[in-house]
Amino acid sequence: METVLAVADTVSDLHDDLEAGGGISGPAARRGITAAIHAPRFAGTVITSTTARRLLANEDAMIYDNPQAFLLCHYKREQALCHRDGIKETPSLDRCVPGCGNIVRTDEHAARLRDRADVLDKRAAHTPLPVGDRLRANADKLRGMAEHHDRTRITLQEVTG
Ligand code: SF4
Repeated sequence: METVLAVADTVSDLHDDLEAGGGISGPAARRGITAAIHAPRFAGTVITSTTARRLLANEDAMIYDNPQAFLLCHYKREQALCHRDGIKETPSLDRCVPGCGNIVRTDEHAARLRDRADVLDKRAAHTPLPVGDRLRANADKLRGMAEHHDRTRITLQEVTG
């Protein structure tokens, strides 16, 4: 129930972002847009345990926020890299794997990646080697992900014409 309510918020926020001209990137970006277009299906729905079960079973509708990994997960079981050994109804967000086909990244995630990179660089300035170098390398990696987002992002307007 809690999961479905959180998903409803996430999908509705994505819908609003896209309507406002925001962009998304990642292997699941196009289907993320399709899911967001249908976001109103959540609006006005009283979520009971029956509707929650129905929504959970509808993979097209389910987008999970994963702020720790700076992304959204548009979960499709067969593509999930976080639990190769077993089929699960929901993603293992704490074991998110870069390169998974379910990843969607928003402009806000890209901004947060850059913020995090700045924090790591500041920390590196006061940290002796080799840990300082590791922090700087991590910051570069996060900035690279943000740049990749900027280069590959698509918008609702581009997709729907
Ligand atoms: S690896 Fe990450 S993006 Fe892929 S299904 Fe798991 S949580 Fe979602």
